[in-house]
Amino acid sequence: MNGQLENTLKAKQINPTAMRLLVLNFLQTQSYAISLTDLEKGLAPADRVTLYRTLKTFEENGLVHSIDDGTGVTKYAICKEHCHPGEHDDVHVHFFCKKCGGTFCLPKTQIPEVILPVNFHSDEINIVAKGLCGQCSG
Ligand SMILES: [Zn+2]
Ligand SMILES: [Zn+2]
Ligand SMILES: [Zn+2]
Repeated sequence: MNGQLENTLKAKQINPTAMRLLVLNFLQTQSYAISLTDLEKGLAPADRVTLYRTLKTFEENGLVHSIDDGTGVTKYAICKEHCHPGEHDDVHVHFFCKKCGGTFCLPKTQIPEVILPVNFHSDEINIVAKGLCGQCSG
């Protein structure tokens, strides 16, 4: 097994089991965010519940973040920023491509400050741009 994958998990205080290494490797080789079903297909015949728990562990430990791209299916992507266990810092815009169906992280496109009415307190701001990705518009 790849030592770099192991170190990535250890840095997030995740015990590197064989299944977690497989899931991390799969996530790292995808060009866009994936759903639980994508993961299940990619790692068949791995058990769906085990895969779901693995993603949740990764999310809780600041290794992946979940994305609500408006399709109704939660997507997961590796955190590019310096996320910590229990504290995510992924304040970037996401992009949903209407042609290929891919959901992408745009780590260089930060979510601008949103001014809210008095007494409104948000703990999460989600911005999803939709259209054609670089591959599909070219
Ligand atoms: Zn994160
Ligand atoms: Zn596309
Ligand atoms: Zn993202």
